[in-house]
Amino acid sequence: MIYSLNSPIQDIKRIQPAYQKRLLKLGIKTVENLYYHFPHRYDDFSKIIPIGELKLNEVATIQGRVAEIKNIRTWRKKMFLTEAFIEDLSGTIKVVWFNQPFLAETLKKGSFVSLSGKVHPVRDFMKFPQRKKEESKISNGVNFDKTLYLSNPAYERISQMANSKSETAISEKRLAISQLRHTGRLVPVYPETAGLSSRYLRYLIQIFSPALAQIKDWLPEETKKAQGLSELGTAIRQIHFPSSDKAIAQAKKRLAFDELFLIQLFVLQQKIKWQKENSLKIKFNESLIKEFVSQLPFKLTDAQRRAAWEILQDLQKTKPMNRLLEGDVGSGKTVVAAVAALQAMTEGWQVALMAPTEILAQQHWQNITALLKNYKFSIGLLTSSASKESLTKAATIKKKEFVEKIDRGEIDFVVGTHALIQESVKFKNLALVIFDEQHRFGVEQRAALQKNILEIEDGQKSTIPHLLSMTATPIPRTLALTIYGDLDISLIDELPSGRQKIITQIVSPARRQKTYEFIKSEIKKGRQAFVICPRIEPDETLKNNDTSFAAAELKAVKEEYEKLSKKIFPDFKIGMLHGRLKSKEKEQAMLDFKNSKIDILVSTSVVEVGIDVPNATVMMIEGAERFGLAQLHQFRGRVGRGQYQSYCFLLSESSAAKAHTRLKALVGAKSGFELAEKDLAIRGPGEFFGTRQSGLPDLSMASLADVELIKQVRLEAVKILQKDPALEKYPLLKEKLKKFQKTIHLE
Ligand code: ADP
Ligand code: MG
Repeated sequence: MIYSLNSPIQDIKRIQPAYQKRLLKLGIKTVENLYYHFPHRYDDFSKIIPIGELKLNEVATIQGRVAEIKNIRTWRKKMFLTEAFIEDLSGTIKVVWFNQPFLAETLKKGSFVSLSGKVHPVRDFMKFPQRKKEESKISNGVNFDKTLYLSNPAYERISQMANSKSETAISEKRLAISQLRHTGRLVPVYPETAGLSSRYLRYLIQIFSPALAQIKDWLPEETKKAQGLSELGTAIRQIHFPSSDKAIAQAKKRLAFDELFLIQLFVLQQKIKWQKENSLKIKFNESLIKEFVSQLPFKLTDAQRRAAWEILQDLQKTKPMNRLLEGDVGSGKTVVAAVAALQAMTEGWQVALMAPTEILAQQHWQNITALLKNYKFSIGLLTSSASKESLTKAATIKKKEFVEKIDRGEIDFVVGTHALIQESVKFKNLALVIFDEQHRFGVEQRAALQKNILEIEDGQKSTIPHLLSMTATPIPRTLALTIYGDLDISLIDELPSGRQKIITQIVSPARRQKTYEFIKSEIKKGRQAFVICPRIEPDETLKNNDTSFAAAELKAVKEEYEKLSKKIFPDFKIGMLHGRLKSKEKEQAMLDFKNSKIDILVSTSVVEVGIDVPNATVMMIEGAERFGLAQLHQFRGRVGRGQYQSYCFLLSESSAAKAHTRLKALVGAKSGFELAEKDLAIRGPGEFFGTRQSGLPDLSMASLADVELIKQVRLEAVKILQKDPALEKYPLLKEKLKKFQKTIHLE
């Protein structure tokens, strides 16, 4: 029976249920998925060599008759040894397998086999006395080299029986070679899972291979031509059944191109769609901005000016802005956002700023109020627990009342959390939306703020707000070209002058005590410290259960708190911050720390994008290797925000080299950018953004480090879309893209 590429694995009877489950675990749901499960490497077993010509340490394939095979139970290690002698016209060789006693059945005496592996020297321990006799019996054969053997070779039976070792028999058997699976060729090795070996995958991939004829190549001919790419069917066949290294490279090139091409098309289409929308023109008022800038307590950096300028230019257009403001922690993004907001509000429009956490929303609200204190705008805060009209009337007003005020346009600037996108919140005339730490928001949320909730009528035309996203996560160049390819980017690539370098150290367990002493001395000087608890890795049982995950996190932070307040720092005041606290309590802990009522704040990662406490000089991170570099960098940015020399201590439980390489990168890095590139290279995009948030498609072939390829792909995608934005002339491509979109949720 020929299965179709779309056949679900579950419907295929010859795959046992246990195996179906394991295949699912690898993400293989259909026959097609199986062919998109690409090998991560190949064993080169393509050299088929006569037994008599084998050389020591050579990796080779031999093909011959099983002259002898038997199991031996070793008395020393309680294991099975399967020992065989294989002969062809040129000679005989001994072969040994460990703990696979079934092989004596599979490769019966007299059968014709193909074996691949490395040729080893016979060692003394293998010379069991009882074997001597057997050997002499067999070694009547020509060229029996007793000093060589094959250890654990890959094996397969070419045919049941070969009674003689005559030349005809062998050449007949050779006909079967094109069917070889595990030996005698470039043998693919696949990503595996428990109970599912590459051997089994090779078997499935081979038996379903007639389905490959159904593959439809969706890549436009002109693109293939321009880039010298193979046909899709050829590429997939070659990836699993390669004829040469060169063929593999060619196939990889095609498949990598495909992965990036779909992302690129998706992103560019988003951009086209976006540019079809209308926005309000917000006129740039130079004297207003000049005056605002001149009354600031500091001088803007050149990078801040440039970014503000780019944004103000965008706002003047009737096309909606979609800009990412990217700048390292402490580079001063808030004031740039405030400039844009000031311009919009002065023209009579409303502005919304959405932050991922209450703490951050609260702080933005305070900072922005302070920045705009000379202007008569009403700046409100809306979170799930609080709705406040302004700093001066800090008392919470009823949410319903507050929401009505927003609806009537009486609040000019609303800072908030997800509460902002709840159904009840409607703006009267929203023209600018600002997201902080935008990679934490999903597309849906973004769309909710822009479309459903905030759409306003401007005469005849309906318009959507301009969009400004801010992030301290430096986006490596390649990502900026791919998954962020629909955004314009403004970069704040310098810190305000006079910021000192934060002294960063990896602390070994032996030096923990010394570190505590150091923290004591800092606190005695009047400074404050953060202690970050290790990230709790959600294990299998917790993964789908956020409640117990939060409970585990809570336990960790409580234990740390107990330890520090009772044993290590009994004389100091210690506070606690974690995701389980009510937002009131969080706010209180944060305020207490800010107002120096607490000396040491023990926290989970919720502090990450939060607090601005200039008096804090120590950031101590437990289990530092469990965090991503970008996140560690964020933590570090919580100190060094005032005039004092600050320190970051990375405590590592792991001695794994990889963990240390990463931490060292943090110590040595000059900028967040450098770190981001490294993080991406070491951990890949999923981990880089945090797996839960990434929403990235799997890139199994393409590398996000390949800037050159990404540029080529982008070029081709632009060509196609310029010609045919709706892809009407490319129905296969259109369908493929539609399917692809369902598998991702880019942010
Ligand atoms: P981030 O980019 O991390 O959001 P913020 O906007 O919170 O940074 O700014 C960090 C701190 O730097 C704030 O206290 C802010 O007032 C201050 N700041 C911003 N721009 C400048 C500048 N040009 N010179 C000095 N201090 C600045
Ligand atoms: Mg910020």
